Amino acid sequence: MEAPYAILDQLEPGVARLLAHNPSAFTYFGTQTYLVGGNELAIVDPGPDLPEHLDAIERAISGRRVVAIMCTHTHRDHSPAARPLADRTGAPIIGCAPLALETAGPRADASFDRDYAPDRVLSDGEALEVDDESIIAVATPGHTSNHLCFAYRGALFSGDHVMGWSTTVVFPPDGDMAAYMQSLDKLRQREERVYYPAHGPAVTNPQQYVRHLMGHRMQREKQILRLVSENARSIPDIVANAYPGLDPRLVTAAGGSVLAHLLDLERRGLVEQQQGLWKAA
Ligand SMILES: [Zn+2]
Repeated sequence: MEAPYAILDQLEPGVARLLAHNPSAFTYFGTQTYLVGGNELAIVDPGPDLPEHLDAIERAISGRRVVAIMCTHTHRDHSPAARPLADRTGAPIIGCAPLALETAGPRADASFDRDYAPDRVLSDGEALEVDDESIIAVATPGHTSNHLCFAYRGALFSGDHVMGWSTTVVFPPDGDMAAYMQSLDKLRQREERVYYPAHGPAVTNPQQYVRHLMGHRMQREKQILRLVSENARSIPDIVANAYPGLDPRLVTAAGGSVLAHLLDLERRGLVEQQQGLWKAA
C-alpha cells in the first residue's frame, strides 16, 4: 500500500487530513495533521518539523485564516512543526501545556519536544471557536501527562490517547497507567461518533473500541500479576512471557508499559520490588 503523503483527504465537512512523511514502528505511516473548519481553520497536531509537510499544510490552508495551531501533546512527532507553522501563518499556538518538569527529576525523555512554547494553554473543557463551531479540550493524561483530545461536532481528535492501528505506549515516568485508564473511562462516558487519531485510520465505533482497549489493559494487568505471583521477575522476563513473538523494535516500549502496570499495582499494594525483581505483595 502506498501511503498518501502530502495529499489532502477531506474526511467529512470541516475535517481534512494530511499525512506527514515520518513512518516508524511507533507512528505507523506517519503523523496525521488535521485541518478543522472551513472559512477559518484550526490545525490539529502540526507534526514533525519537515519542510515538505509544512509546505503541504500551507498549500492546504490556501490563504485562509488559521485561528489556532493545536497540539494534543509534545512528543516529537506531534508538536515541532507548531512554531514554524506559526511563523508562516501568524497563528497562535493554543492547546496542551508544555511538559511540567519535576524537581525529583526530568519527566521528559528523548521523544519530548523541549522547544514547545504555546501562546495559550487550554484546560479541560475550555473551547475555541472556528467558523462559529466549538473545539473543546478534553484532558486525557496517561500516554503523557499533558495529553489533550479535542472534541468538534461529534468527532474527537484523539491524538495518541486512542489510536486506530495499535495500542498506546504508556512509558513512565511521564506515562501513567492509572491516569491512562481513567482517561479511557472518561471517553467511554462521552458520545462522539468518530475518533480521528494522530496515527492510523479513523475509529468509527469509539465506545466499543474504548471498552475493548480497557479490557485489553485489564487482561494485561492480570497476566502480569499472575507472572509475578509465580516467581519474582525482572521486567525483561515479564516482557518475554507476556509478549511472545514481539517485534524487537517494540521491546523497549513493551518494557515501559509493563513498568507502568507494575507502578500502578505497587501503588495499590499488590506488588513490590526488590533489586529489580518484582513479586506479588
Ligand atoms: Zn505520543
